[in-house]
Amino acid sequence: MTLSITRQFPIAPLVTSLIDGESVAPKPKGFDIDVVNPTTEQLISRLREADADEVDSAVRSARRAFDSGPWPRMDINRRKDILYAIRDHLRKNAEELAYLECLNSGLPLQSVRGHVERMARNFEFFAEVASNVHGETYTQTAGYLTYVTREPKGVAGCISPWNAPLALSSMRVASCIAWGNTCVLKPSEFTPLSVRRMVEIFYEAGLPPGVVNLVNGRGSVTGNALVSHPDIDMIGFTGGTATGRAIAEIAGRQLKPVALELGGKSANIIFDTADVERALDGALAGIFANNGQQCLAGSRILVQRGVADVLIERFVARAEKIRIGDPMNETTEIGPLAFRAHLDRVLSYVAVAQADGATLLTGGKRAAAFEKGWFMEPTAVMASSNDARVCQEEIFGPFATFLTFDTLDDAIRIANDSKFGLVNYVWSEDLHTVMRCSRDIRAGTVWINTPMMRELRAPFGGYKESGIGRDGPQASLEFFTELKSTIIPIDPIKMHRFGVS
Ligand code: NAP
Repeated sequence: MTLSITRQFPIAPLVTSLIDGESVAPKPKGFDIDVVNPTTEQLISRLREADADEVDSAVRSARRAFDSGPWPRMDINRRKDILYAIRDHLRKNAEELAYLECLNSGLPLQSVRGHVERMARNFEFFAEVASNVHGETYTQTAGYLTYVTREPKGVAGCISPWNAPLALSSMRVASCIAWGNTCVLKPSEFTPLSVRRMVEIFYEAGLPPGVVNLVNGRGSVTGNALVSHPDIDMIGFTGGTATGRAIAEIAGRQLKPVALELGGKSANIIFDTADVERALDGALAGIFANNGQQCLAGSRILVQRGVADVLIERFVARAEKIRIGDPMNETTEIGPLAFRAHLDRVLSYVAVAQADGATLLTGGKRAAAFEKGWFMEPTAVMASSNDARVCQEEIFGPFATFLTFDTLDDAIRIANDSKFGLVNYVWSEDLHTVMRCSRDIRAGTVWINTPMMRELRAPFGGYKESGIGRDGPQASLEFFTELKSTIIPIDPIKMHRFGVS
């Protein structure tokens, strides 16, 4: 059944942390953050920021759940049952979660539907992965058996961004706890509502207390307290490259492992040999899906000269017909950007582009049809060169940058001329062209003749400044578990007896 939003759901006037499976009562005094609906600009709730003491309580709860609680020691079938129950409860509450996500983030229901299903599926997927893990044995050394086991690594700090709150925070949490770890999750201060409800649902589904704790607040306060906490064993972070670098520095001083999923400025390469109709559909989806706020956006559209005029003209015509509006409306293609400062930042790139010699092809303004809300016209510019800031910096909104190229080698060189290396898209029906791109493009994922298609079984993550580590079954096994070698002699061994003459 297709997920629709048919009603409103209640929202707490003050959102607090959730520790040990319980909602935290607000302290008499604290720092509050407005939670705003980006469609109407109205205040919908307030967030009571978790200070360092509250973060410490959350970490201690996760620590207790790891050191002496049932979760890491639980029979895998029982743990799997709970992860499956989480999937089912999330699905049962899908409409409420979708409502909160659209309301607070401005993401259109068309995107949120997929995110809500992905969120539920993440728990099923990692339950299966964790239940199929096996160890190693070594018998080559005569008289000895050595076996290698995997153990959960401990307590994780999981930090997620605002651009797809449910999909991204559930990916981190599911891949962490399925192995028997526990965690403290900090979502973005801008979009706390859906993630808060998601964590409540974990406990309604039977998760033991303390396995997932939630703290809310600004990155510089709550996030920093979490990353710096000495009892956190590892950090899984999804967000911007600058923040990722700052977190890695703190973690590095404490020798904590980090997995970083960071930003991108991905090339979407359209060759003369492409099926132009499909490449056009893919280019529009690549930059305008999810309000353009996605790490994997195909934001640098490189078009081979032979097809450039036709393709760009048709892209602009289609961009001008995109349905902007209420994110809860079934037909809306682009909703408002997530918060005011972000809209201002994205819009500021129009002047940046023009200062670097770009031509504005369409859009470039706040959408005039809306009196309220952080709506932006789908925007496209023709850049003067790949050195321009709009080709090198992540803009993270409905803002496409076009460049033209002549040869296959040019396309690959331009695509790789970036500090990022998250994903790339390639559109061509020519086998040699796609094989060369697949081999020579320096990015964690290359999508050929398709818009974003996430294969959960395959690794996902970035080269260069797009990250460290990967999401995916093998990567999560390596990041979230420790290896232990146990060495046992088959028969009692003869040992040299020190001090015995
Ligand atoms: P961000 O500013 O880096 O924030 C990400 C998270 O980190 C938020 O929860 C933020 O909290 C927190 N944070 C900020 N400063 C912190 C600090 N000093 N210590 C600890 N935590 C801190 O990123 P964003 O603007 O939310 O998200 C957009 C970025 O995420 C883009 O660059 C995008 O490409 C990237 N992203 C990457 C992937 C991927 O898979 N590679 C997926 C999605 C998004 P507050 O927001 O509350 O301040």
